[in-house]
Amino acid sequence: AKIKEVEFVKSSARAKDCPKHDRPEFAILGRSNVGKSSLINSLVRKKDVALTSKKPGKTKLINHFLVNKSWYFVDLPGYGTLANQLSVVSQVPDCRGQGFGDLRFAKAPDAARMDWSAFTKGFFLSRDTLVTVLLLVDASVPPQKIDLDCANWLGRNNIPMTFVFTKCDKMRAGKGKRADENLRDFQQFIKDNYRVPPPWIMTSSVTGLGRDELLLHMSQLRNY
Ligand code: GDP
Repeated sequence: AKIKEVEFVKSSARAKDCPKHDRPEFAILGRSNVGKSSLINSLVRKKDVALTSKKPGKTKLINHFLVNKSWYFVDLPGYGTLANQLSVVSQVPDCRGQGFGDLRFAKAPDAARMDWSAFTKGFFLSRDTLVTVLLLVDASVPPQKIDLDCANWLGRNNIPMTFVFTKCDKMRAGKGKRADENLRDFQQFIKDNYRVPPPWIMTSSVTGLGRDELLLHMSQLRNY
């Protein structure tokens, strides 16, 4: 399951410019500052192949990286920032309803809308090689509406996802809720809203928590 080689392939401005649908893809997504670069660095463990700030292309592009010559890591533009919004969800929307099957979202509230550029949506809706979306969620803050909206949108469009909680080392954060309480709240949301809850993995780029689990999870999904 180890990442031995990462090769930048291309940056695409539109879904139809992406590489051919020839290999399994894992898209990585989350709001700005969620810890995406740190997580990728910790997965890849090589400074020179990491996708930090010096990633190819601009942040508003879809970046494809070929890993071990066999599958793609797709770095998608982040959505939102902690500064510009992140209203705390005081009441988790009730989205229970009809389910569609495995890993399918039951029924999203009408309000669930994602303010993505069309091309990000186009990517999700057009890539039949997409194995799963790794949806990064910051465990150091309470569940955020923008993350729930994103999960709702993916669920409503039947896009498989894996919740990857970041910053799980912050279990004793001074103010507000601790990461374990935040996690519990978010996990409750998942349980309440999915007939078959998508998998979730707890990670920390500081302690390395969840790193091997995430790599194993991806390799298992590839072999289906
Ligand atoms: P990005 O914008 O999603 O790529 O986020 P970064 O990886 O740049 O991280 C944003 C901030 O969160 C930085 O200050 C990181 O040091 C911090 N951070 C990222 N991952 C972790 C983590 O696992 N634990 C803790 N405590 N802080 C983290």
